[in-house]
Amino acid sequence: MTAVKRMFVLLCGYEILPMTVSLRGADPKFIVSVPICTYLLDTRDGWVLLDAGLDSHHLVDPGQIEKYFSPGRWFPPPVVKPVHEMEAQLKSIGIGFEDISVLILSHLHADHSGHIKRMPQARIVVQKREYDYAFSNAEKIAYFPEDYDLPGLSWDVIDGDSKILDGIEAIFTPGHTPGHQSLIVDLPQTGKVILTADVGDWIENFDQEILPGSATSDEEAIASIRRINALRQQTGAPMFLTHDPVLVQKIKLAPDYYA
Ligand SMILES: [Zn+2]
Repeated sequence: MTAVKRMFVLLCGYEILPMTVSLRGADPKFIVSVPICTYLLDTRDGWVLLDAGLDSHHLVDPGQIEKYFSPGRWFPPPVVKPVHEMEAQLKSIGIGFEDISVLILSHLHADHSGHIKRMPQARIVVQKREYDYAFSNAEKIAYFPEDYDLPGLSWDVIDGDSKILDGIEAIFTPGHTPGHQSLIVDLPQTGKVILTADVGDWIENFDQEILPGSATSDEEAIASIRRINALRQQTGAPMFLTHDPVLVQKIKLAPDYYA
């Protein structure tokens, strides 16, 4: 029986990007704004979070702006309005970062790792290949070590598909990054849902099998898109997309929830 009682979708900001970043081969003239979503699960074993959003501190600190978000780097910078702040959204649900007992990270890009530092009490679940890559000297794009290379964090490094709790299954979906993972969550009334994270930003990535703009392995990225598509077919489970600008407007957002 599933341990999950409710799922909240938190809209944590927007990124302003060429459409080619999400959809390989798109017309380079198009610039789009894509949401950053995270997922909060209320379970009988405590609060579980998938992904930690972007830390808006990086967007106001002059040193961080220069380092990461100046022209020629990640520019224009993302947008995190007060309404997008994770802390305020958790508060509207009646909890805080200190109440998160398990933090699952799809991968360690900066728009997924921002608030890790605020959850030292949490068991932080990440795939081994992602952990090794993030902590390696490889030249990486969009990894901010100051978000995750910190003392006092409780890493739970897993390797491949794993059950996290009853009703929460991690599935290994590499390609966008070396150790990317997605989740299958079993909700008591809705049934199974697939939280795809960055396997594909837009529904078109899945429906038309279009590669994401950025991938550390195209071969693995397309295999992961096909794996998610096969799961959709087998289970009939709906997908929740982290960065789809249209779908985000059609789903229930926190403090509303799915049961
Ligand atoms: Zn990413």
